[in-house]
Amino acid sequence: MNKIMIGGKPVEAFMEEIRKFHGWVAPGVLLGGFMVDYALELVGQEVEADAIVETRFCLPDAVQLLTPCTCGNGWMKVLDWDKFALSLYDKKNRQGFRVRLDVGKTAAFPNLYNWFMKLVEKKDLPLEVLNRTILEAGREVLSADPVTITRHYAKIKKGKTGVCPSCGEAYSLRQGALCLSCQGDGYYQIESPAEIFLKQAVSY
Ligand SMILES: [Zn+2]
Repeated sequence: MNKIMIGGKPVEAFMEEIRKFHGWVAPGVLLGGFMVDYALELVGQEVEADAIVETRFCLPDAVQLLTPCTCGNGWMKVLDWDKFALSLYDKKNRQGFRVRLDVGKTAAFPNLYNWFMKLVEKKDLPLEVLNRTILEAGREVLSADPVTITRHYAKIKKGKTGVCPSCGEAYSLRQGALCLSCQGDGYYQIESPAEIFLKQAVSY
């Protein structure tokens, strides 16, 4: 069997990168590696490609490991669709390729099908077995189409910055006269150091 290469390096090295970046060798990131590798080959390494990923789970990390596109630099957009698909495209002309896990093709790999369709409990399909199936399947379970990107390609612009009159913190003025947190969307309450001390004392 030929050595499996992902992003120009042996898949074992890629799996080690997944472990470091993602915390464990998640099957979704491993499979995502094959998808990104395929999309990169179709788009061409010489193209400066942007990415649109159609799920928040696993796949964005494969893009971040194998391309310069990250959440933070804005070259990757992540859609919360829970679809295992992604597009890489030339940001100059919006031409690119969409690669997806093709559920029809997974029929030949029951472990992969059962995992993807959430038909099997984790304990009944050990990670090593599933990942071995993913390595066996490679691109055989993927489909790709040439695409022109019609939405979600625009740069996300930052708004003007102001200081919130309620909390005194800097925020985007697009949020309104007060920051979203002060408008009631906050996700935390600030505890005074004394209260934290008391809570810790109670737990003894
Ligand atoms: Zn505020």
